[in-house]
Amino acid sequence: MGKLFGTSGVRGVVGEQITPELMMDLGLALATHLGNSGSVVVGKDPRTSSDMLESCLISGLLSGGCDVKRLGIAPTPVVGFAVRRLGAEAGLMITASHNPPEYNGIKFWDSSGLAYTPQLEDKIERIYFSKQVKRVSWDRIGEVGTVEVLKSYIDEIAAAVRLKREYKVVIDCGNGAGSLISPRLLRKLGCKVTTLNSHPDGFFPGRGLEPSPENLRELCSVVKSVGADLGIAHDGDADRVVAVDEQGRVAQADKLLALMAAHQVGRGRGIVVTTVDASSVIDDCVRKRRGKVVRTRVGDVSVAAAIKKHRAVFGGEPSGAWIFPDVHLVPDGPLGAVKILELLGSSGKKLSELLDALPEYPTVREKVACPNERKAGTMKKFEARLKEFPDVAKVLRVDGIRLEFKDGWVLVRPSGTEPYIRVTAEGKNSARAREITEKAVGVLKRVMWS
Ligand code: MG
Repeated sequence: MGKLFGTSGVRGVVGEQITPELMMDLGLALATHLGNSGSVVVGKDPRTSSDMLESCLISGLLSGGCDVKRLGIAPTPVVGFAVRRLGAEAGLMITASHNPPEYNGIKFWDSSGLAYTPQLEDKIERIYFSKQVKRVSWDRIGEVGTVEVLKSYIDEIAAAVRLKREYKVVIDCGNGAGSLISPRLLRKLGCKVTTLNSHPDGFFPGRGLEPSPENLRELCSVVKSVGADLGIAHDGDADRVVAVDEQGRVAQADKLLALMAAHQVGRGRGIVVTTVDASSVIDDCVRKRRGKVVRTRVGDVSVAAAIKKHRAVFGGEPSGAWIFPDVHLVPDGPLGAVKILELLGSSGKKLSELLDALPEYPTVREKVACPNERKAGTMKKFEARLKEFPDVAKVLRVDGIRLEFKDGWVLVRPSGTEPYIRVTAEGKNSARAREITEKAVGVLKRVMWS
């Protein structure tokens, strides 16, 4: 059986992996899985291929007997919100997130607004490849209607927060789906908003969709020149948030995640969830608030599932995919932006002051070439040699192997897509980070061909 789903739904280049036929078949496979009834919410980002793919997806769903509630262009978090608000059986988002404009894809949510787990994705895949699909007769074909939920989403989030004062914010939505939400939401909360690239445009003329420092130079300089308190950027489907401090510097992702985790724990001793590749600065910040950090596999699907399991107060990845379970279990960029302002208000400090007060832990990233068929064996042999790391305080096996030391950690993890085993290490200083990395790489190379 082939493989359709990756770490974030089905994704690829339009006309190659992502075709109208694929969308039609996936719509019908989902309808079959849902028992040929119920309603499905469909949203899309503004890519030039989104209308074409949406039409086919909807046809597939209708032919399988599901009703369709079309949201039109909407950020990913709004799809998750709409599934619950409208009592739908599932939600579908047509997006390729931060990938370039020639890409597109699709992501699935269940009726509780939780992203499809790998098990559920496998079910859809099995139906798709086995062609065990079921169409309905002419009198049971589904109905399609357009629903407007952007306003209720904005109202619900705005009602959940109170900002301490009027903030000046610059927002760069990268011409993605966030353009329809974040500027309106922040204005509703009383902010003075300057927008960049905040009209949806499937050619994404403003900047690269990945909210990386190279792509955010304009945002950084506008934040400084207008004297804003904060700059905000999203990826194409706005399930991620990246911040720029008032000095025009892109906030280091791990530090911002740590600040938010501590803010959400507050005085409540709660649990926060993050991934095995996140810096230990989050442990420092959360421990100070007597909270606890739980680490999961990489990917927002794993983070959401762990939040639910541990009843966590917050979960996030260093990429800026943050989940606030008191609102919903979907990574939410606009909500993240609002929460950063709330955090600034409760601290009474500038973002630069909060970030600069945190320790700087150097990171080293290496990759060791390893043929795909040797990855599993090499990881087993590596695990058998853990006694070569006598100073290990804790071993985590949720995604690859993560060894934690008193003064650093190393993550050894096979790449899902390339013939490499990746080694990421962090130390209290760069010499220690390098030392841990070299040790792990040395053991890996020794066991790989033994
Ligand atoms: Mg995204």
